[in-house]
Amino acid sequence: MRKPIKVLPYEKNAIEYLIRELIKFPRQEGDLLFTHVLVLFPHRRPILYLKEGLRAVLKKPFVPPRAFSLEDFVQLLSLYMEERPKRLLRPIDQAWLIYLSAKEAKLDEIGDFDSFFPWGLKLSELFEELFEEMVEPIPLSYLEGIPRKAKRLFEALDSIWRTYNALLDRNGFTTPAKRKKEIAQKVEILPHETVPHFALGFYALTRSEDLLFRGLWEKGTQFIWQAPKPLPPLLERWQKEWGAEVEYAWDSPPMNTVLHFVEAYDVHSQISKALSLFRTDGEHVKQALILVEPSLLLPLVEELPEDMEVNITLGYPLDQTPFWGFIEQVLRLIEGSDRKKGYYHKDYLSIVRHPFLRSLNTPGGKPVKGLFHFLERLIVERLGPYFDRYEVESLVASEWEALKALGYDPKDALSCIGSIHNKVLKPLEEVETLDDLIRGLKTLMEFLYPLLKESSDLLANTGFSFFQSKVIPVLEGLLIKRVPIRRRFLFQILRYLVSGTRIPFEGEPLVDLQVMGLLESRLLQFDRVIFLQLNEGVIPSQRGYDPILPPSLRPVLGLPEREREEQIIWYHFERLVKSSREVYLLWQNSVASTSKHLEIKASRSRFVERLLWEEERKRRELLDGQIERIPLSIPPSHFPKKEGIPKEKERAKLTLLSLSQGKGISATLLNTYLECPLKFYYKYTLGLDPPRAVVEEVEGDLLGELLHRTLEDYFKPFIGKTYNPKKDNDPDLLYRIFLGHLDSSPLSRLGPEKRFFLQEAVKFRLKEFLEHQKGSFDILALEKEMTLTLKLLDYEWKFYGKIDRIDRRGDKIMILDYKTGSVKDPPSIKSLLECPLPQDLDWESLALIRRKIRDLQLPLYLFLYSGGNKKALFLTNAAYVVLSRSQTEEQEREKRLIKNNVETWANWLSESLPRVLGFLLKHIMYSDFYFKATDEESCQFCDYEPICHFSW
Ligand code: SF4
Repeated sequence: MRKPIKVLPYEKNAIEYLIRELIKFPRQEGDLLFTHVLVLFPHRRPILYLKEGLRAVLKKPFVPPRAFSLEDFVQLLSLYMEERPKRLLRPIDQAWLIYLSAKEAKLDEIGDFDSFFPWGLKLSELFEELFEEMVEPIPLSYLEGIPRKAKRLFEALDSIWRTYNALLDRNGFTTPAKRKKEIAQKVEILPHETVPHFALGFYALTRSEDLLFRGLWEKGTQFIWQAPKPLPPLLERWQKEWGAEVEYAWDSPPMNTVLHFVEAYDVHSQISKALSLFRTDGEHVKQALILVEPSLLLPLVEELPEDMEVNITLGYPLDQTPFWGFIEQVLRLIEGSDRKKGYYHKDYLSIVRHPFLRSLNTPGGKPVKGLFHFLERLIVERLGPYFDRYEVESLVASEWEALKALGYDPKDALSCIGSIHNKVLKPLEEVETLDDLIRGLKTLMEFLYPLLKESSDLLANTGFSFFQSKVIPVLEGLLIKRVPIRRRFLFQILRYLVSGTRIPFEGEPLVDLQVMGLLESRLLQFDRVIFLQLNEGVIPSQRGYDPILPPSLRPVLGLPEREREEQIIWYHFERLVKSSREVYLLWQNSVASTSKHLEIKASRSRFVERLLWEEERKRRELLDGQIERIPLSIPPSHFPKKEGIPKEKERAKLTLLSLSQGKGISATLLNTYLECPLKFYYKYTLGLDPPRAVVEEVEGDLLGELLHRTLEDYFKPFIGKTYNPKKDNDPDLLYRIFLGHLDSSPLSRLGPEKRFFLQEAVKFRLKEFLEHQKGSFDILALEKEMTLTLKLLDYEWKFYGKIDRIDRRGDKIMILDYKTGSVKDPPSIKSLLECPLPQDLDWESLALIRRKIRDLQLPLYLFLYSGGNKKALFLTNAAYVVLSRSQTEEQEREKRLIKNNVETWANWLSESLPRVLGFLLKHIMYSDFYFKATDEESCQFCDYEPICHFSW
């Protein structure tokens, strides 16, 4: 019965060869029934090609042969060979039985199922391999270099294995590998009708497969290989072990594959290149795009043109759909919540802001978007870092009128928010078993379903229905459904299941362009093949360290060494390359960051090196110069213009004039422009408020405002009077005033420990501040608003400033500005004199002014107070009062503008400052762009950074 193994060269189309054999197969004349023929493939995809090929050749109705993938074939045989069909367990349940077995082995380290789960999954993989390789484990003692827990598990491996097997058998359970092994052991008694006539596309066999296939071969199965001469190592070994004869079907002309080596900058440039190759102008070219790494699928799908007809065999990852994104966020909110304090605001806001939720409607049919935007504002302004759902609901209920003004029926709005709490969050918070989790998920889905029906987001809808139809039934079928498990771990199981789930793409499966993984291409042949990401570490892949089974332990256990995997991948790679007319081999050369923040240069795969070397030998020349190198090409529109955003000059002028006519041009406005014209544009021209967040930390601007109010109230009784520090200092009063203001400040919502530290720090600083008030002074004014009008550039401009405190000290006036954050030194007169006014209204001129002047606040205050009068300037100074430091030196606490050269200062302030102001106004109105920051450090602390395309 044994038939010689047929060996086809790579260039021969194996499916077409099979079709010719099938047509020759004995059957009644004119009969196109192939049902008596059974064909075995390694996977399902060739079945489609077989049927399509038969249709093309026969051009008549026919009944195709029975064709199976190996997995389906084993399933079929189980129906014949198992007395009662056994229940196939998933890895989660396998891990559970392994856990029970390990407990029976009385291992101290075993802990509970939650902590054992990752080890259980690893052991289930190992046990599947042991079944596949028909190996009985032996106890392994004295192992070094593996974790203690793994060591204990290995010492008891044989006993765990025995109990595990007994548990499977006793309960009528099996696993995919155990079933295969048991069927292989009974191969002699397989019924005749289950013996395949043809088996093709196989390369490396496990011991179970070897036993099964050998039995089939003895019973007459015709094996067909695709291989070069001499045979690759694993086929050669297979032939020798079986003592099989081989027959070479060597009648096709050589393929002479044209290879193109292409080095690209990154994944996107590889995809662009591939897309440019797909266009074939109506030519019928069978093409395959091979993704050696599934993660390439998402960037590819994003860039595929809508009109491109393509079949994608790799499914879309469920965990990348908006629906799962939302569930993941809900899980994180629950995990991050505190039993006593409630939800953490950032997690709650992520739910409220989630695009999936925002795309829904309220039960009354209004889009929830506006409601959630309002809710977000309420939370940020009124709640602390943690809160519970009742606080949210009563907060919304207190805004009855505001909801109406927004166009919402308040009852509908409240019911929407209440339903999210009760039907989305609550059911998942109170879970103790998988059964509870399933019930919770079902409640959530029942609530979302009617809302989702209205949504046009296809991916969200698909994710939802796939989760409902595939993930929920799997959870329901798990053995551990009723086992009490901690919530965190239940979520982990759910995540584990979802992370391995892919949604199949729909569409015509045999169009000319196929996107697939390397193993899915087995047996198939294309005119043109494009490989992406042929980088070392990707193909062959680099396995991480396996804590439970280091490579050195594999031979000890009787398992094949890992090197065999590389041989297998090389075989499939080489077969696909050499069976195609034209092949593009693309790899990435850019620098990639590793998880350890190291940068490594990506290098091409050793598989590419091997093909390159073979090609060089064939052509007898070095090919390095012929590698196509795709430059990093980014369309100019993707680069932010160096200059910034083009300015509408008329609008800029009108904005400035209206600001001047309002409160006036302030030092803050001018400083903002000096620091970054774009920031000025976002803030003053567009009126964009920086995003607000719940107060969680001591924020500088809030603290500044609080201390300003505190000091104003403290010094108020002394306006027009003399303050004598020795007599009048009252740190307790100052602190009490602070506490009074703190209660009405957003900082009052800080957590108790942060509030405590804030109070203590402020108490200390305020006391120190008072202690450093040296000598008596008269307080002339507090929070004094001042304006001054100047004619510049043919317009009247009003300048404005609000001065924190004005003192008379002897015959001098001191203008003070309180600072709570870090303070730079005011400009020196030397630096100001060195700064000639530039002519050009460009970025460089502005950057020069910024470097020299640094900050216009104190000069402008002096100018406002003195009215530009030189005499008055002789008698006036200005200083920043640094509240955030504890320097003992008075001059460090007060950073004064004028330290010496009073006359030069008076000249500069009265004559040059107006010219500087004129230059800045001109720059604001007439420069061509709103330029980016004049100093790259500014971007680090800029509130607009998230929306700004020009940050350094
Ligand atoms: S991010 Fe930088 S460039 Fe953009 S507005 Fe802020 S400071 Fe200016």
